Amino acid sequence: MAERTVAAISTPKGEGGISVIRISGDEAVSIADKCFKAISGKPLTGLKGYSAAFGKAIRPDGSVIDEAVALVFRSPKSYTGEDVAEISVHGGYIPANECLKSVFAAGAYPAEAGEFTKRAFINGKIDLAEAEGVMEIIGARSAAALDIAMRAKEGYISRDIENITERMLFTAASLAAYSDFPDEDIEGLDYEHFSALLLECEAALEKLISTFEGGQAILAGVPAAIVGKPNVGKSTLMNMLSREEKSIVTSLAGTTRDVIEAQVRAGNVMLLLADTAGIRETQDSIENIGVERAIRKLRSSALILAVFDISEPLDGEDLKIIDMLKGKKCIAVLNKNDLAKKADLSPLEGIMTVSVSAKSGNGGDTLISAIENICKTAEITEGDTVLLNERQYSCAIRAKSAITEARSALLSGVTLDAVTVLIDDAVNALLELSGKRASESVVEEIFKNFCIGK
Ligand code: GDP
Repeated sequence: MAERTVAAISTPKGEGGISVIRISGDEAVSIADKCFKAISGKPLTGLKGYSAAFGKAIRPDGSVIDEAVALVFRSPKSYTGEDVAEISVHGGYIPANECLKSVFAAGAYPAEAGEFTKRAFINGKIDLAEAEGVMEIIGARSAAALDIAMRAKEGYISRDIENITERMLFTAASLAAYSDFPDEDIEGLDYEHFSALLLECEAALEKLISTFEGGQAILAGVPAAIVGKPNVGKSTLMNMLSREEKSIVTSLAGTTRDVIEAQVRAGNVMLLLADTAGIRETQDSIENIGVERAIRKLRSSALILAVFDISEPLDGEDLKIIDMLKGKKCIAVLNKNDLAKKADLSPLEGIMTVSVSAKSGNGGDTLISAIENICKTAEITEGDTVLLNERQYSCAIRAKSAITEARSALLSGVTLDAVTVLIDDAVNALLELSGKRASESVVEEIFKNFCIGK
């Protein structure tokens, strides 16, 4: 059944240079033609793909909405793989919305969230990993995140996965050929050779998996908290780290001694950073609420920057905080290094420490490198393929453990049929990752997170 023609405003709603109304489907160009009058007088339906026309966007009664440019793309050479028309009007909600209403009146249906990209997937223009790359491009919060997302959109993940899948299928087919022979003829089977092939696939997957943690620190960000007793310099450190991006520092509703949160880029790590109230014993009930929240933040954050004032000896409050750091990914920030050092740092043994002066900014670069190291982004080098999300990661993990099992089954003399079943499991997980064999519900889940118009 032919998909019905859909339309949506593809640009953000608000004032801007232009707004684009995208229409995709068999009727895209004829619908656009009813809503657009070219200065040349020529109908859009006569245009070849990759053509533009200047004219007016019009309502069904012929009244003019705005000046406009119409673009025509012909199947399969379009974003969705279908015929696509795009009408660009002046940026602003009213011209765009009037134009969209006109497009609906001419026969288009409203596009659902991510529907254009979903159609590109269904029509084989992109696979799931590439579609997820598109989503990450749109949501990129740093140049490093954009770089990873672009590589995914360009098919680097898909190529790596395909490469591994092909090697797995070759191994399975070779083993299947042997399993057709009676037992005595299997003697010629070179177990070491096939084991080595599986090991290669396992190593390739391991490499992909190893970039996940660092990749997430760049793409999704790391929930992090600055903790410490009062006056050690937590707010000063927060300001130092968020210097460039102060505008997005937001104060959460609550008391003034509440948690302050900001997205802060430390090198290529995106920190979702909370500056918490000073942790100490207090009789002040309002302050206590802040202290409790700070402790909760400490427990729930993936990374802790624990601040200590080294111009004073560490006291009982500091030691209690050090105790709370056990088992957490954490950096002890030894602050106020511009003053004479009075603290004995032996209680911090075993914890990564960085000496800074939050006030002067001294030590800032070392702290950023430490954050990149602990968040594993330092391990990602330019050109690495990076998995984008939990879905891709869990498919890769499933595939890898099936390969590990297949390899040990092969070497322990289990029937070849059983080995090929395990290889099939691995292949299925990889095909799910790229979307070549993903269930309808997985596909639905992915595209529903897109915005309307993409
Ligand atoms: P918080 O209560 O932990 O958030 O601490 P603040 O950031 O408000 O800082 C407490 C006091 O320490 C302020 O007077 C800061 O100016 C001072 N302070 C913070 N960092 C430094 C530092 O690196 N060196 C010095 N000398 N003073 C600092």
